[in-house]
Amino acid sequence: MQVCYNCGNEFPEENITREHIPAQNLFFGYGDEYKVNRLVVPACFDCNNQYSQIDQEIRDAIGVMNNGNDEQTELTRKSIKSIMRKKNWADRLYFSEGKVLSVDFSYDDFKKLHIKNFKGVFYAKYGRPLPKDFEVEIIAEGDEEDEKLMGIGKLFYDYVVENDKFLISGHEDIFMYNIKTMNPTDSEYVIDNGDIENSLCVIGVFVYHKNLCSIVIASKKEFLDGIKKRNR
Ligand SMILES: [Zn+2]
Repeated sequence: MQVCYNCGNEFPEENITREHIPAQNLFFGYGDEYKVNRLVVPACFDCNNQYSQIDQEIRDAIGVMNNGNDEQTELTRKSIKSIMRKKNWADRLYFSEGKVLSVDFSYDDFKKLHIKNFKGVFYAKYGRPLPKDFEVEIIAEGDEEDEKLMGIGKLFYDYVVENDKFLISGHEDIFMYNIKTMNPTDSEYVIDNGDIENSLCVIGVFVYHKNLCSIVIASKKEFLDGIKKRNR
């Protein structure tokens, strides 16, 4: 029997597939040298299929955000084609001087995808699915206008990445990540004790194509209650 990284249920070996974190389509058009040492986690059929639509959404978003990176040209081309195949494409694209300036994407879809990748990274690091008593929130593209939230995001980002390095799945140009437990202490500091059983919070930071950053916060209810109490 094997445990699925996403739903946490047990399945016999023949009903388990291998899921790449992040999705393989983010590597479209890149050479083999970009695809080494990718994270792979066990997934049941349902969980593996569930995200294919959304995987495409994030691929499209990253594709059109190309800042003139040559390696990404193929991905960008494919993404624009994919967007223009959809019925509502004209409503989603904003043009300036004949170039695509930006594209509207569903924030909910992004959120699902960041959570999926968080669960994958979590499984790879701790060897178990995320326990069900953790609730997951994200801070990402689309939250820029909320200054308070961005401030919290910066604190979390520094906690995970400062004094430590990003880990890489495939290549740093595609996916950089790190993940840490976060536990309050009696002093004003928080520590990473790596012990999931006794942790109240786990933070993940992800950077896609050096362009799109998301911070994922998985916490038990006591963690947020504790923060509220301190701030009183
Ligand atoms: Zn599953």
